[in-house]
Amino acid sequence: MALMVGLVTSRKRSQKACCSALKLRPMRALLPAMLGTLRSLRADATVTCMKTGTHVAMKLPQTGGCLCRKIRYEITEAPQAVYTCHCVDCQHLTSSAFSMAIVVRNAAFRLMGIEPRQIQSTADSGRVKIRWVCSECGCWVCSVGGWDSGTSRVRAGTLDDTSWLRPTIHFWTRSKQPWVTLPDGDRTFETQPEQLPTGSTK
Ligand SMILES: [Zn+2]
Ligand SMILES: [Zn+2]
Repeated sequence: MALMVGLVTSRKRSQKACCSALKLRPMRALLPAMLGTLRSLRADATVTCMKTGTHVAMKLPQTGGCLCRKIRYEITEAPQAVYTCHCVDCQHLTSSAFSMAIVVRNAAFRLMGIEPRQIQSTADSGRVKIRWVCSECGCWVCSVGGWDSGTSRVRAGTLDDTSWLRPTIHFWTRSKQPWVTLPDGDRTFETQPEQLPTGSTK
């Protein structure tokens, strides 16, 4: 079942205020622009499960940040996908069973606050990935590189509102913990596909 992001806009949203993604500016300088952005971009969206037709409401913009709040971000459009990753690196990094992320276009993702530490690694596929981590509290906020230079993978647990999250794509199931049961109809991959899967599942 694909997570189709049906943007049910109650109002036409302006795209004007998104500065180029991942460009850091001091929080203070951004505040007036941000307030304007919040006013102009506020909208409702739903994340729709194609199988059941269930709609889960999410508000735009979405906000989040690191644990110590010195890095904050704003997301101004619905994500392309919500996924979990069961690779051993994610298990190690999160000291948990899997990681969860949302895929967001860079143009709709704005990072604010202190400059994150960039930690580079190379995947088995040879793709270079960069994890952006708070240099103060160590929280992993997002990753860039890999699939598509036009998107960022924002760590789902760093969102202020996680109530609407429902992952429907699952990577690296071959190293999944045996007690993790994935919902019927979700898209699963033994490893990781070359491209981010989009569209309907079957
Ligand atoms: Zn922090
Ligand atoms: Zn992973």
